[in-house]
Amino acid sequence: MLKSCGRKLLLSLVGSMFTCLLVLMVEPPGRPGLARGEAGGAQRALQSLGAAAAAAPPAAQGPPGLRSFADYFGRLSRARRELPPAPPSPPRPPAEDISPRDVFIAVKTTKKFHKARLELLLDTWISRNRDMTFIFTDGEDEELKKQARNVINTNCSAAHSRQALSCKMAVEYDKFIESGRKWFCHVDDDNYVNVRMLVKLLSSYLHTQDIYIGKPSLDRPIQATERISENKMHPVHFWFATGGAGFCISRGLALKMSPWASGGHFMSTAEKIRLPDDCTIGYIIESVLGVKLIRSNLFHSHLENLHQVPKSEIHKQVTLSYGMFENKRNSIHMKGAFSVEEDPSRFRSVHCLLYPDTPWCPTNMVY
Ligand code: UDP
Ligand code: MN
Repeated sequence: MLKSCGRKLLLSLVGSMFTCLLVLMVEPPGRPGLARGEAGGAQRALQSLGAAAAAAPPAAQGPPGLRSFADYFGRLSRARRELPPAPPSPPRPPAEDISPRDVFIAVKTTKKFHKARLELLLDTWISRNRDMTFIFTDGEDEELKKQARNVINTNCSAAHSRQALSCKMAVEYDKFIESGRKWFCHVDDDNYVNVRMLVKLLSSYLHTQDIYIGKPSLDRPIQATERISENKMHPVHFWFATGGAGFCISRGLALKMSPWASGGHFMSTAEKIRLPDDCTIGYIIESVLGVKLIRSNLFHSHLENLHQVPKSEIHKQVTLSYGMFENKRNSIHMKGAFSVEEDPSRFRSVHCLLYPDTPWCPTNMVY
């Protein structure tokens, strides 16, 4: 009796194991439509990003849900704004004595923004840090060359497309490697960089270690699909620092990125996952090299509510930004030396707060 019970138990155990195995084998690898050709691939990348943006549950997102990159950026932007304000990053003890000359700051711009955006940066933070700042643009401008020390014409297309942005990032990376400096930092032309705080932050790490620091834009890792061969795709998920807030990479880590980032490789890596430049950086670092992004709340893009940066903490931030959101101005909130009409970005006011000896700053300002 006992023996027969034992046999029955054994048989049912083997049976259920077999059923489990069958279920695992026939389980579809992904949602329907995941194995289509070229155009499907692009849509897949968008679809997976849409899921990451979480505007709707993944099951509700059919292929027509995301039609273009505008849709993708829209969703990603919304998700970025859904992020709750993060607590301040605690200060760290110094690890290496570095000077501004050890840092390479790449500013991405385009010819149409030379007057509209760059001039403000040249008047403010770049004026104090000409040697460390490298401007990457897409058109010749003799006036700009007189004002800035390092202007690089990337000859990339002057478009806001995924390829054009990756083309600029590829040149930024190559120029940094060529420079021999210890730290690579990327910012957009609507960022203010507080260089003193940037150098202080970077000094708390070793440039020979694997350091990738910035602020993620989503509250979860991005889901993407990596193209392994013509018709083989592989799902990946990783964190990335949003380019619009600025981010930095140590030389030690940048050198390891070389097989996927140097020469023409950055463009082909970006094509492999069909995502913008900042996501591609995150993909190489987190997914390929297995190095984790260090989150810092000292970096700010205009896709977060900049009013939430406390007035008393403005001088401690590493980057700031400005922009529009639903026809409303998004900028940091501070009284400052200039009115909002005179200084809508608040960058001139920030600059006078940080460098009160600037000739055009009002004297005897009390903050
Ligand atoms: N940009 C560019 N080409 C363009 C438009 C923008 O290189 O055709 C650059 C721009 O100079 C900036 C970055 O891309 O450094 C982001 O542009 P923007 O702030 O207009 O857009 P966002 O992505 O922040 O909404
Ligand atoms: Mn911007």
